[in-house]
Amino acid sequence: MQFPVCYFCLKTGLLCKTCDEKLKKGEITKLDIEVAKWFLNNESKYPQLKDCTFYKAVQKDNLLVVLVECKGKGLATLWRKIGKALGDEKEVNVRIIEKTSSLRNLLSQLLFPAKVVSLNTIWLPDGSCESTVKIASEDLKRLPADTKTLEEVIRELIGETVYIAT
Ligand SMILES: [Zn+2]
Repeated sequence: MQFPVCYFCLKTGLLCKTCDEKLKKGEITKLDIEVAKWFLNNESKYPQLKDCTFYKAVQKDNLLVVLVECKGKGLATLWRKIGKALGDEKEVNVRIIEKTSSLRNLLSQLLFPAKVVSLNTIWLPDGSCESTVKIASEDLKRLPADTKTLEEVIRELIGETVYIAT
């Protein structure tokens, strides 16, 4: 598995100059290092992880979201299994999602089992954009966290403003 921190630093727990600078600049966080370490220690149990990249981890309240990318496809079952193992150990609710250029796809993974009904993006005069994702009102209780928490997770994970509405 590929990590944003070098192998040596993950193994020793000490940060080299490069990794230390990444941490200071905010390119990586302590949580990223902690979660990357877990993946490194557990990699041998899940052979599919060999071709995967760990990007980052974001935690809000009891929800830990991990962004990864893999060459293999159809790994949803694997992610649930790993999510459970990591979650049991860290005593949080874990969701592992695959990096994608499609915001709709990313939201579908994050909000599952709630379904994305529609997604609208508007451009603001300052050149930024914000999106509203609609889900069915009966799906509200099926979200992995409350809407405000999820909105914060999305902002931190991909730097986009997304509102969740019914
Ligand atoms: Zn390093």
